[in-house]
Amino acid sequence: MTFSSTESPDIHVSFRDAVFSGLAPDGGLYVPIEEPDLKRLFLGFSADGSFVEMAERMIGALFGSDIAGRSPAAIARTAFPFAPVMRPLTPQIELLELFHGPSCAFKDFGASFLATILEIFLDGTDRRATILTATSGDTGSAVAHAFYGKKNIDVVVLYPSGRVSPLQEKQLTTVGGNVLALEVEGTFDDCQRMVKQAFQDRELTDRFHLTSANSINLGRLLPQSFYYAFAWCVSHAEFAGDFLFSVPSGNFGNLTAGVYAWLWGLPVDRFIAATNKNDIVPEYLRTGVFKPRASVPTLSNAMDVGNPSNFERLRAVFRDDLMDIRTMIHGVSVSDDETVATMRRHYTRSSIVLDPHTATAVCAAEKMIESEYGSTEDDGSVKIVVVSTAHPGKFGEVVYDALGIKPDIPERLLNALEKEKQSVVIGSDKADLARVLFATRRTA
Ligand SMILES: *Cc1c(COP(=O)(O)O)cnc(C)c1O
Repeated sequence: MTFSSTESPDIHVSFRDAVFSGLAPDGGLYVPIEEPDLKRLFLGFSADGSFVEMAERMIGALFGSDIAGRSPAAIARTAFPFAPVMRPLTPQIELLELFHGPSCAFKDFGASFLATILEIFLDGTDRRATILTATSGDTGSAVAHAFYGKKNIDVVVLYPSGRVSPLQEKQLTTVGGNVLALEVEGTFDDCQRMVKQAFQDRELTDRFHLTSANSINLGRLLPQSFYYAFAWCVSHAEFAGDFLFSVPSGNFGNLTAGVYAWLWGLPVDRFIAATNKNDIVPEYLRTGVFKPRASVPTLSNAMDVGNPSNFERLRAVFRDDLMDIRTMIHGVSVSDDETVATMRRHYTRSSIVLDPHTATAVCAAEKMIESEYGSTEDDGSVKIVVVSTAHPGKFGEVVYDALGIKPDIPERLLNALEKEKQSVVIGSDKADLARVLFATRRTA
């Protein structure tokens, strides 16, 4: 595959270059130039196939020439020692659980693929790379776990001191090895500013080969298309009605990956873009005006985004045609009260504990069924796969307040809680970051 920038169509880069640079030099986002036709791959995939088999085939079809000499099967197995799980919720709704990886959230899929592919791209060169990333909680732990122990790669994660949950802090600061956690005396915005300024500093970027692991990076975004294809293949089984995905969205990387799978031939009828009260995209779909604004805090805080960074990619898919985008994407905004009510309803009905992010997408799916399909029985008219993005154990307080129970916490999170926190406290200036880089990192 080759990629151009949303800002200038004449930029052409390889997958490798897009992965190393993250953002295009003109400030735009890299988008695929070709639309590979994978329809035969999707239609020919067995309903008993595994996720790793789907990943292997899509890696071969999409990146075959970029990974010359490497086996797609080996890459898929290295990147994905964990897999999605499908779980029925109602007669019409199935959950696609993506939280069985190391950090218990869907970001493990993209981060792990990016880590695997970067290690391969660096192998045989005399380069090292430094992954520099700011986190308000979840991205950092997925990235830290994904890159742990990767050859020729150092990881530096910045997080705002006292502003991530105790569990998130433990997840970030107990990985060790090649992962350095910097506890910044400031806000998340300070962390982001410091990272941005470091990327604009030629001396730092050249010296440390700084590479970004945020959701703008195609190495994280494209592999997320694999689980949409997998979910369709294992659950459509001769189903003749409408097949939809409902996606809890913040920066819209996850939804964009699903839309790419559709663009490449996956027979999906529609996507539901579920947001919390940060409803910039649903509002755009309603009014045609895209108006970013400051985010407001909600119970589904990983979706508290006021200026969704992947929206430009979605726009590019539909060539900025509002009518076109509306036929494929249905926006639904969900309040905190509705989120809590949804968690309660399903806990009462089937003892299934939903995390607040997944609950927004379940609520959005139920609203859509009510408004467009009427019946809530399995009458063959619609099937909705809800993308379940986090383990409820990561959001114990929200779950407790909603349901009055403490959710199970997976073993791997409990282990992190028992370990000793290791972080370096730094001020909120780029100079503070530069000092730590020079003091602790090997130059590339
Ligand atoms: C990051 C995140 C989201 C939002 O994903 P985007 O790709 O930014 O839209 C949803 N749920 C959880 C649990 C997350 O961590």
